[in-house]
Amino acid sequence: MRDPIDPPYTIGYGFGYRGDIGVPGASTDHQGIDIAVGVGTPVYAPLAGRVVQVTATGAAGYSIVLQHDATTRTRFNHLEKIPSYAAGARVKEGEQIATSGGKRNAPGAGTSGGPHLHFAVYKLRNGLWIAVDPVPWLAAGRAAAQDSKPFAPEREEEDDMGYAFMTDEKKPYYWFSFARGKSRKLSTEEVVQMRSAERSGIPGNEIHKVAAGWYANQLKLGTFEP
Ligand SMILES: [Zn+2]
Repeated sequence: MRDPIDPPYTIGYGFGYRGDIGVPGASTDHQGIDIAVGVGTPVYAPLAGRVVQVTATGAAGYSIVLQHDATTRTRFNHLEKIPSYAAGARVKEGEQIATSGGKRNAPGAGTSGGPHLHFAVYKLRNGLWIAVDPVPWLAAGRAAAQDSKPFAPEREEEDDMGYAFMTDEKKPYYWFSFARGKSRKLSTEEVVQMRSAERSGIPGNEIHKVAAGWYANQLKLGTFEP
């Protein structure tokens, strides 16, 4: 495991709900961490893997998504240049894959309000790619590297069992985690993944459309965090 940016580094916005940060188009439920680094800072593949996609438009700006094993993906947004990889290309652990960007209104900045690297980790759970907090994920990877053990993410899998649901047809989907006893909004990407999983009938992908009564009850219990 290698950190996506050479440590030490500072994290601006962390993972999770952050509300309106005053940057047009920026997410309110943050799906990754924002590492505060200047334009041109090298960005590394944390683990070996393959390139899933490279994008050049949208909120992410210039971005790359890597897949490291059957259940782990990482994403890097607001890059300085379009990464020169084809989908399916192999990357080595620690390989420099890009340079960070994010300067407001730069060609690959997307919705970024200032230089930083947006780094995200996704785990496949019940057919859905779910964003997880990259900080403990990186810490676990560093600890495993120190003990020269292979990084085994299986435990994490069990820790976040849950199900997806929506409160009515027009509202976004939420993920309810049994372990955390809390819900969070699914990202657009996760919803797309979920819908395709639904269509392909992946076993065990249970999608519950939960009645308003349940929603009200969760609010009362204080476990619902839209
Ligand atoms: Zn971000």
